[in-house]
Amino acid sequence: MNLPNLLASADDKTMAIRNTSLLDTRTGQMFKDQTVVVRGPRIEVVGQETSIPPGAKTLDGRGMTLMPGLIDAHSHVMQVSGNFNDLLEWSPYYIGARAADVLKDMLQRGFTTTRDMGGADAGIARALEEGLIEGPRLKFGGPIIAPTGGHSMTKVCDGEVELRRAIRKELRDGADHIKLTVSGGVISKMRMESLGFTEKELKAAVEEAHMAHRYVGAHAYTAEAVNRALRCGIRSIEHGNYLDDESIRLFLETDSYYVPTLATYWYLTQEPHFSALPKDKQSKLQGVLDAGLDSLARASEAGVKIAYGTDLHGAGHKHQLMELTLRAKVQRPSDILRSATVVGAELLNMAGQIGEIRAGALADLLVVDGNPLQDIDVLRKPGALKVVMINGRLVTNQLS
Ligand SMILES: [Zn+2]
Repeated sequence: MNLPNLLASADDKTMAIRNTSLLDTRTGQMFKDQTVVVRGPRIEVVGQETSIPPGAKTLDGRGMTLMPGLIDAHSHVMQVSGNFNDLLEWSPYYIGARAADVLKDMLQRGFTTTRDMGGADAGIARALEEGLIEGPRLKFGGPIIAPTGGHSMTKVCDGEVELRRAIRKELRDGADHIKLTVSGGVISKMRMESLGFTEKELKAAVEEAHMAHRYVGAHAYTAEAVNRALRCGIRSIEHGNYLDDESIRLFLETDSYYVPTLATYWYLTQEPHFSALPKDKQSKLQGVLDAGLDSLARASEAGVKIAYGTDLHGAGHKHQLMELTLRAKVQRPSDILRSATVVGAELLNMAGQIGEIRAGALADLLVVDGNPLQDIDVLRKPGALKVVMINGRLVTNQLS
């Protein structure tokens, strides 16, 4: 028996975008003269001969490209200052208020979903969900967990017991994933080559996350750290600038995800940030960026599942689309766009819901003046983004 949906009528607004070229980011194909019909938060139908329901608000997308909203799989929406001491000093309420701006700008840049890899919690996610603030759909993991002396000591845990306790608390608070740091970093005091956490600790963390049907993502730079993390069951490797052949083999064997974050190194090589860094960090930074590009090229060639990440902070957030341009040095636009949509959706366990334009998916849509398959930089051009829609709601509309 089919029960009538009594709630369907009120919010059941229909909208259509017609005459547009549809970019299928899964296959990298462009389909001409397409119409997409959106009902409520979801895509109802898409195709060439699609009829538009009477009364639907209709936008003409002639000469434009329709594509799914972008997914940034490595962001820090609460890192509202580039000075990490500020973040330690400032009131969380003040940080939250500034994060509202970061989130709003992110959505206007075309990112309809983001995975926060340290800092965001259930509170900011709730504010977004309730519409108190405007921004992308947010997947969060709570504070970054590191061992004493490790990279980014937001939440310090030593030993299995402390780790399990912290992870259980984060999962109870609604975390979508857990973030660990398993090697040093670019800016941290811990040497990049050093390993964080024992294998026993890593396996305990993975077990805890799996028990809640969640997963662990790990900050790791060197092949040694990456390979150990993958062998312990970690599902996404963040940064991973120094991969070796064994890393690539392990990614493929364990079906794990690689999330390079080149934009953040590029940002730090720009002035005035670069001159502000100690001399040894300056040379380290360029090496990290070059190695990251080389690892990305090899992983992409081998067919590793690669998501789009940026890892930006403070004023750097505005360069979130720069990752597209950086990756284009070693990848085709179609591969980069797949990373930033379909692959991101899989990593976030939202395959079929986001990152694709198909009947039944959430209506997270962009209309772009230009063809990103031919020129990926078009997405960075001021004014090129004509429509941003999230959950069937128009955030930006410059079409008639
Ligand atoms: Zn990060």
